Amino acid sequence: MSLSIPFDNSYGRLPERFYTRQDPVPVAEPGLIAVNQKLAQELGLDFQALTSEPGVAALAGNARFDGADPLAQVYAGHQFGGWSPRLGDGRAILLGELIDNKGLRRDIQLKGSGRTPYSRGGDGRAWVGPVIREYIVSEAMHALGIPTTRALAAVTTGETVMRERPLPGAVLTRVASSHIRVGTFQYFASQRDTEALRALTDYVIARHYPDAGNALELLENVIALQARLIARWMGVGFIHGVMNTDNSHVAGETIDYGPCAFMDDFHPDKVFSSIDQFGRYAYGRQPEIAVWNMAQLATSLLPLIDEDIDKAVKLATDAVHRFPDIYREAWLKEFRAKIGLATEEDGDAALIEGLLGRMATLRVDFTNTFRGLSEGTARQQFSDPAAYDGWAEEWQARLAREPGDPIALMRATNPAVIPRNHRVEEAIQAATSEDYAPFFKLNAVLSKPFELSEADYAKPPQPEEVVHQTFCGT
Ligand code: AMP
Ligand code: MG
Repeated sequence: MSLSIPFDNSYGRLPERFYTRQDPVPVAEPGLIAVNQKLAQELGLDFQALTSEPGVAALAGNARFDGADPLAQVYAGHQFGGWSPRLGDGRAILLGELIDNKGLRRDIQLKGSGRTPYSRGGDGRAWVGPVIREYIVSEAMHALGIPTTRALAAVTTGETVMRERPLPGAVLTRVASSHIRVGTFQYFASQRDTEALRALTDYVIARHYPDAGNALELLENVIALQARLIARWMGVGFIHGVMNTDNSHVAGETIDYGPCAFMDDFHPDKVFSSIDQFGRYAYGRQPEIAVWNMAQLATSLLPLIDEDIDKAVKLATDAVHRFPDIYREAWLKEFRAKIGLATEEDGDAALIEGLLGRMATLRVDFTNTFRGLSEGTARQQFSDPAAYDGWAEEWQARLAREPGDPIALMRATNPAVIPRNHRVEEAIQAATSEDYAPFFKLNAVLSKPFELSEADYAKPPQPEEVVHQTFCGT
């Protein structure tokens, strides 16, 4: 068994003002919750070694994997629209990068690994709740085919973390295509450090967009991936909850699962985050917030787009203004498939919006209504079935013009199970007293979201089980 990982740490070769070299802070008593065996394989890592005592110690930050070059990355960001000139990894450490079995470069990061120079007032720690939530939800996203960071492992620390009350501490091992955020660009742009901005741009192009020839093309690529990502979120009823620019990944991955949630009953104004009092990051506002975030990236890149500032502004603005079209196309593709349409007709958008409007009025269950379209159970979701019937008549007429197999398409598009909030809470509650069975069970069910293996997991919460708020993952 070897704890050596063939790390190749390209981020650590960037200028020193990109990060601070920093080891994780050791914990009292590392304990294993889970190692993701499939992901370990994908990464070419030895599962047995990771679950061994020295492996768990390294995953908790108490020992160093050979070849690691631990560092905390610096970035800035707009949080709920307000500018923070310096954020950075306040409770995370990048151990290093490795090349996976598909040849892709992946970051291995510990989250909850202790204080860093970017911790500000925080303790650098995480409690088991957010660790479990991020593990479950990010792996569920992956199973749904939506770009996301991954969860390689979760371990306990044997320490207590002080939140509203003392809670058991934990560390998540996160895997990502990188951890570069819109806020990373903002950090250097706000310091007018054009040299660093150029180094970052070159780095991101080389790592994520090798076909992009310059900063403008990089921007266009990021915008396109972001637009497509948000369309995917909308398609599964996902609410990120904290779409700050520091949580906006430049390669279009879902990142930083805090007070995120999947909707049960549908309404576009739905918000879960306990700190989002004005609904800035409500379900229905996610596309416009993504545009706002892309505008921040565009602004940061201006000095590299053209020496003539007016020209740079024009080019960057045009790129941002293309977001709505790209998003709309991706959204239509997503929702066409959700109602079984493989072909395109002009009236499709109105048909989809007709369904969503009725769903919102009657607050039907988002997942079960769409899944019900292929199972013949959509109608029963509606407290007023006539509302459904009126729509279904138009839909049937449209389906009659579909050459393919709409049922198969819908079954492959509309999940039967999503990480329902009350199930996630149940897993967190149990984990708080070291019972991880509900966590494992939920992960297993969610690993095949298009199969209904356990009918109970498809059920919306009972009134007393409804989770109204989720708390920021600190
Ligand atoms: P988030 O809202 O989770 O994306 O975090 C925003 C910023 O706060 C990031 O710079 C985090 O590293 C930092 N942060 C969040 N929680 C903690 C904590 N417990 N200790 C130190 N820094 C934290
Ligand atoms: Mg964050």
